[in-house]
Amino acid sequence: FLATMSHELRTPLNAIAGYAQLIDMGIRGPVIAAQHADLLRITRSQEHLMGLINEILNFAKLEAGAVPIAHTDVDVNELLLGVREMMALQMQRGSLHYDVCRLNRIDGRILTVRGDVDKIRQILLNLLGNALKFTRPGGSVEVTCDVTGDAVAIHVGDTGVGIPLAQRTAIFEPFVQVDTSLTRNADGVGLGLAISRSLARAMGGDVTVESNVGIGSVFTLTLKRGLADADARDGATAPAGTAN
Ligand code: ADP
Repeated sequence: FLATMSHELRTPLNAIAGYAQLIDMGIRGPVIAAQHADLLRITRSQEHLMGLINEILNFAKLEAGAVPIAHTDVDVNELLLGVREMMALQMQRGSLHYDVCRLNRIDGRILTVRGDVDKIRQILLNLLGNALKFTRPGGSVEVTCDVTGDAVAIHVGDTGVGIPLAQRTAIFEPFVQVDTSLTRNADGVGLGLAISRSLARAMGGDVTVESNVGIGSVFTLTLKRGLADADARDGATAPAGTAN
């Protein structure tokens, strides 16, 4: 059902984008500036709708247990470095101070978590995207990491609007969004945290939140520590000069 739905929904959307592009290229005749601006709006709306549909379908697939999850050892330092790179420009554009504290060695070993690298990255990018969305310019977003026994916690903290206590559980449910002045209509459908939590749980972890309204929030992704004896890889994957 999902595969069919996905095809049925995406095909006309692709056609909309394709024909808008053809017209914009002047293939059907000259395009005046106002028409060009309208075509841009059509294309943006098409991309937005495609994004929402993809998100809804991804969530449905996840809920149906149809998303394969790898269980491998993931180098935390490498992962956080990649995430830092991917978000740096957006944080800069949002005028936010952005810091990622890496923790690549613990007791002399490379720190790893057990899970699927793409899914862990997806969760962190979603948490960082939210931190960016709900923090005013001039604020800050920080990623930190700590280890307790066999659990690794990656915290995404912000100095944003915060989340009222009454909504702190509900925001992890699908389609729930807290009504704040910083929530922009066009952004998301309220699935990001539901997807993130499902993914984390599928890897044996979780996503939780602590927050103070007007002060900020800290979302924590907890995962299990990797199984492999990291000593075996010592020196091979740790980039020079990054050891703490
Ligand atoms: P979306 O971001 O698409 O709205 P999410 O599931 O990611 O969906 O988030 C649900 C709601 O939780 C958001 O609409 C927002 O109200 C609240 N929220 C999430 N992250 C934060 C944050 N860092 N600070 C304040 N509110 C947040």
